Amino acid sequence: SKISVKDLGALLGIEPVKIIKRLMNYGLMVNINAEIDFESAKKIANEFDVDIVEEKQDNEEFMLEEVDDPKDLKPRPPVVTVMGHVDHGKTSLLDAIRQTNVTQQEAGGITQHIGASEVEVNGKKIVFLDTPGHEAFTAMRARGAKVTDIAILVVAADDGVMPQTVEALNHAKAADIPIIVAINKIDKPNANPERIKQQLSDYGLIPEEWGGDTIFVNVSAKARIGIEQLLEMILLVAEMQELKANYNCRARGVIIEAKLDKGRGPIATVLVQRGTLKLGDGIVAGTAYGKVRALFDSHGKRIKSAGPSTPVEVLGLSEVPTAGDILLAVSSEKEAKSISDERKNLQKEPEYDTPQRISLDKLFEKMQKGEVKDLNLIVKADTQGSVEAIKQALEKCSNDQVQVKIIHGGVGAITESDVMLASASNAIIIGFNVRPDPNAKKMAEKEQIDIRTYRIIYDVVDDIQAAMEGMLEPEY
Ligand code: GDP
Repeated sequence: SKISVKDLGALLGIEPVKIIKRLMNYGLMVNINAEIDFESAKKIANEFDVDIVEEKQDNEEFMLEEVDDPKDLKPRPPVVTVMGHVDHGKTSLLDAIRQTNVTQQEAGGITQHIGASEVEVNGKKIVFLDTPGHEAFTAMRARGAKVTDIAILVVAADDGVMPQTVEALNHAKAADIPIIVAINKIDKPNANPERIKQQLSDYGLIPEEWGGDTIFVNVSAKARIGIEQLLEMILLVAEMQELKANYNCRARGVIIEAKLDKGRGPIATVLVQRGTLKLGDGIVAGTAYGKVRALFDSHGKRIKSAGPSTPVEVLGLSEVPTAGDILLAVSSEKEAKSISDERKNLQKEPEYDTPQRISLDKLFEKMQKGEVKDLNLIVKADTQGSVEAIKQALEKCSNDQVQVKIIHGGVGAITESDVMLASASNAIIIGFNVRPDPNAKKMAEKEQIDIRTYRIIYDVVDDIQAAMEGMLEPEY
């Protein structure tokens, strides 16, 4: 199997230009879209202290496997995102969680919002991303950043499963992260938690007492019921994940938020994922570079270093980076600048930002090369009945070469959120009696997402089958 230089860069969190340079050392002159074989990819990865293994799952043929000395690996706190339908209580729940904790820790302290909060339960930390919702989550994933370990799906007990509930759970599933369901607003007289369990079991989230493996917790963000229990369940799920990271290497993190502060210059909130970020480290994120001038923790306190799963505000970058960018600590500010310069040069190359996306036209070709194992589809239609009918018909199209997977199905126009999910999961979007809204259309063009619209179910099935057999008629 093969991987492009660009994808390898994304996988390793290393700028492609460095990979290109290393390949030159091996006498290979390649550009960013060139595909290299597994052996070469492995050699390069090893030079960066990372190992990769060949694994065929979820369209990812190369999986990251860091070569860490086991003695450097220590448990790290889980990173949690809160998702759910609008008005079901995501923001209130985050507030309740923070307040439960503030009283214990530092009453009266100024709680500064830096994009993520840390909470301590039974002596163990949990990190919450402050921007609730699956949109921000999937936008980061579309940029190649995997930040969240656990998703909390908030469902209002008096309202039930709504379109964005389904969207959120499908976004979390597509990212393959565990979901804990928080049934909120149980203080309300018309709350009906059993109905929520019933509804969610249709989407594969089955409570433990019904023989499934999804944890449900009844909470009230308003009346502060069940918050401690929810936090304990997060720790339980985190424990099963055995989250670990190397604390003793150069830091790598993800930009969660960034802004320009009049007095202090660019400020970035970084979630450190590996290694320890220290004052004075040379750093680079996208084309921003610099040196760590100051670090602040989630309580606004000055700190000297930050280890894995720590959100920190970082001062010292030359410009404001983009959320989802990878931040790397390098040997010096000088090296950081040279990487930034190389990236700026690379961006001038026309092919730099051309995404290599799946499309129905190229499906067969990619199948022949063994590059596609799953055909991920998002189905949007005018009625739930059509969504179900199309889902069932398409799933039957799977053959021994390719499995057709409907990663999300819903009623209504094709939205930006659908395009983002397609981008993050390399999917094609099918619209049945619905069209993309203008923003979605624009984004799809930019991200090169294949959107197909139909009026007859038979035509949908026919096109997918034809594409899988290499017989698709060109679109005019
Ligand atoms: P979000 O849109 O999901 O972030 O929802 P919000 O946190 O803004 O909450 C929406 C509304 O529901 C607000 O008016 C909250 O006061 C209310 N709300 C949130 N949690 C609860 C709860 O546990 N019980 C009750 N009764 N109301 C709640």
